[in-house]
Amino acid sequence: MRFSVLASGSSANATLIEAAGLRLLIDIGLNCRTLEQRLKALDVAPESLDGILITHEHTDHIGGLEVFTKKYTVPIFANYNTAAVIERQCRCHQRAVPEFNFFESGLPFMLGDLTITPVPIPHDTAEPVAYVIEDGAQKLGYFTDLGYVTEGVAQAITGCTALILESNHDLQMLRNSGRGFQLISRISGRAGHLSNDQACEAVATYASDELRTITLAHLSRDCNQPELAGALMSGTLKHIGKQNVTLAIAKQNESLPFMEL
Ligand SMILES: [Zn+2]
Ligand SMILES: [Zn+2]
Repeated sequence: MRFSVLASGSSANATLIEAAGLRLLIDIGLNCRTLEQRLKALDVAPESLDGILITHEHTDHIGGLEVFTKKYTVPIFANYNTAAVIERQCRCHQRAVPEFNFFESGLPFMLGDLTITPVPIPHDTAEPVAYVIEDGAQKLGYFTDLGYVTEGVAQAITGCTALILESNHDLQMLRNSGRGFQLISRISGRAGHLSNDQACEAVATYASDELRTITLAHLSRDCNQPELAGALMSGTLKHIGKQNVTLAIAKQNESLPFMEL
């Protein structure tokens, strides 16, 4: 299994995963042209994708869906409620409605030899999920846009060999950002985003001995700094005796090289 976070942040999110002979995208927030460019840079033809997994309907996760799927025939996977909102938005703007394959949140399903588990998460959308992808040897967890770490998320983190984990904001920077009270409450609330401290706490509490690599994701441009998020997480890893776990920080404007598991 290997993966590349093609983009991550408040404007656009997309991650490419190759495992068990399949190529999957989690989220498609990049516009079609940028996505094509970033896939091409990794030597991946857009039409070679075997599926697109949708976490939730916020634009930074589905912004490129419509144009990309009009151009390329790639199956889209989402739960019913998320798909229904996306369909409604398309109809509302008189745009083509993409076709969805449905799964049930919390219930694992198979794609080829991969087991995909959509994990329900607290976030302010219809029915948001995180994903765990297993190929029998490796277990990759994709956890962004979560207000807090639920029991289900905690369980899903345990046993992961690779984590793509939200480290959205530094709480102090968010409070001093000059943003309105409501927006600050939304971001830091239980249906918003994980802070650096919450991400560190999740790893310290739930990561198990299998963990090999962490990629911090969905960093806020204005209310976080990659160096700060990175320093806090490497301090945590050292503190819990997992200093051998590799650490990367996903970017908004460029993709990360493939991480091999
Ligand atoms: Zn979101
Ligand atoms: Zn998001």
